[in-house]
Amino acid sequence: MFNSLSDRLTSTFKNLRGRGRLSEADIDATVREIRRALLDADVAVPVVRQFTASVRERALSAEVSGALNPAQQVVKIVNDELVGILGGETRALQLAKTPPTVIMLAGLQGAGKTTLAGKLGLALKEQGHTPLLVAADLQRPNAVTQLSVVAERAGVPVFAPHPGNQGMETDAVIGDPVGVARQGVAEARAKQHDVVIVDTAGRLGVDQVLMQQAADIRDAVTPDEVLFVIDAMIGQDAVATAQAFLAGVDFTGVVLSKLDGDARGGAALSVATVTGRPIMFASTGEKLTDFEVFHPDRMASRILD
Ligand code: GDP
Repeated sequence: MFNSLSDRLTSTFKNLRGRGRLSEADIDATVREIRRALLDADVAVPVVRQFTASVRERALSAEVSGALNPAQQVVKIVNDELVGILGGETRALQLAKTPPTVIMLAGLQGAGKTTLAGKLGLALKEQGHTPLLVAADLQRPNAVTQLSVVAERAGVPVFAPHPGNQGMETDAVIGDPVGVARQGVAEARAKQHDVVIVDTAGRLGVDQVLMQQAADIRDAVTPDEVLFVIDAMIGQDAVATAQAFLAGVDFTGVVLSKLDGDARGGAALSVATVTGRPIMFASTGEKLTDFEVFHPDRMASRILD
């Protein structure tokens, strides 16, 4: 991900190497290159506009500094602005004062929610937490089974309904995702799990029924965190999808999934700025360990490396 953006930006900076003071025309030419690189990488237009205006203004007013030559100064400004659009600070999970902490996952079908439930469950377990996964995605027949498989791989228990409730100690039924979510949280409280991760249904496109169901689950379990999972491979649609989920369910943080892919990825980079919500985690593969806390500064350095 971001290889072509990275190449374009670094070659723009290469053209400035060895130059003395930059004229306004030099800065404008550089900013134009940066604008093209960002747009070609699918970064959302309003984000590009804000980004380039800010780079231009800062580059024009940059003092001649003893420590950095003009090219290095431009790189530093672009780096700072990239960190800014990616949300600035690293944002950790907010744990509830009184356990269990409830984390709800939302996003389109195929975004990587179920996989993320396993990854997050495993990471939390390794930090000494006792997570419970809750299968409230009852839209796809396979989803409950898939979450159970992921939970088993992570070595984390799962609360799941059964069709007709056969042989289960729970009375949760397959047709009632809100009830399953509520009972899952009650189960966590009763069995002293300190974190509950509630997986919810996604559709292929944004739809009102799905949005209402997610909002009902949110109202039923009052989550401490709602994580919106977005597939970085979906390109330009990422921004509109994020805005639809922000309006329909609201969320406290973003998880970028499939960052191991080779898409241009700029739209995903726009999501924090467009929604005002921080990117908290990155999913980088199908294995449960392909998962990391998202650090805006490290991502910016990786892009400008
Ligand atoms: P859900 O419908 O949102 O629950 O999505 P899933 O968790 O079922 O993921 C959909 C597909 O994407 C599955 O085949 C996953 O193995 C795959 N997947 C999930 N996260 C990643 C990731 O970070 N990288 C890659 N390459 N594949 C992923």
